Amino acid sequence: MKSMLITGANRGLGFGMIKAILNQPKENVPQIIVAACRKPDEANELQALAAENSNIRILQLESKDLDRYPAFTKEVADIVKDGGLDLLINNAGIGSRFHRIGMVKSDELIETFTVNTVGPIMLTKNILPLLKSAAEKNANAPQGAAKAKIVNISSILGSMQANTDGGHYSYRCSKAAVNAATVSMKVDLKGTGICAVCIHPGWVKTAMGGPKAPLEVDKACKRLVNTIMQISEEHNGGFYDLDGKKLAW
Ligand code: NDP
Repeated sequence: MKSMLITGANRGLGFGMIKAILNQPKENVPQIIVAACRKPDEANELQALAAENSNIRILQLESKDLDRYPAFTKEVADIVKDGGLDLLINNAGIGSRFHRIGMVKSDELIETFTVNTVGPIMLTKNILPLLKSAAEKNANAPQGAAKAKIVNISSILGSMQANTDGGHYSYRCSKAAVNAATVSMKVDLKGTGICAVCIHPGWVKTAMGGPKAPLEVDKACKRLVNTIMQISEEHNGGFYDLDGKKLAW
């Protein structure tokens, strides 16, 4: 893999995944890691990591700024050039407060849906030509290998079958929708060699996961990255946990 793009790269799982990717054997570390975040000037840890690793390129992206996606894509294209983009990780996301049906608020539903669902779908749409370029460049990859990958970071809270507690309308619906989008991506991109998956990263100690989460960021991200690296055609269109175990929709 030569190049990748990850959103929400400044903290939490996004930053953790970049560190885990850098910690892989040298031959697996992409030559270009485009790290998108909404406030690069305030992304001190990411800036420090980029100062030590010249393969990290930081770009600004606010998920809700949908009008900027074409210009952002051009910036990514100028970085990756003819090689295209081998891996897109749609990671940026927001949680929402737990509400039962009586307290659901439309503005929270819309905000969460915009960041967690509209953002990943529209970014994938814009970035697609770069993924297709990479897939064409990787045409001679071994049989069954993904020639380019889309990873949508989802959540078990988007699973219908796992929903025994109710509530959480905004977050659950936004992640269930991104799961549905992943299946459509698989169908729409048939024959391109591009594989799309959604992954529940586990309950992890980030700002979103909170201090009671059982998983540490570094350990979870190591497992996540290991799973992402092994995505092949057989995984296309599926929903997995951080170890690549299939989850129920
Ligand atoms: P954090 O809250 O720690 O980090 C969220 C990241 O998303 C930050 O980089 C944040 O940037 C970015 N972000 C939020 N809103 C926007 C926006 N409007 N535009 C651009 N970037 C934005 O969360 P996690 O790292 O835990 O979550 C990462 C992903 O994992 C999310 O999709 C989440 O739903 C999913 N997930 C996490 C779980 C957990 O237990 N942690 C469990 C299941 C799923 P900024 O710093 O600028 O706010």
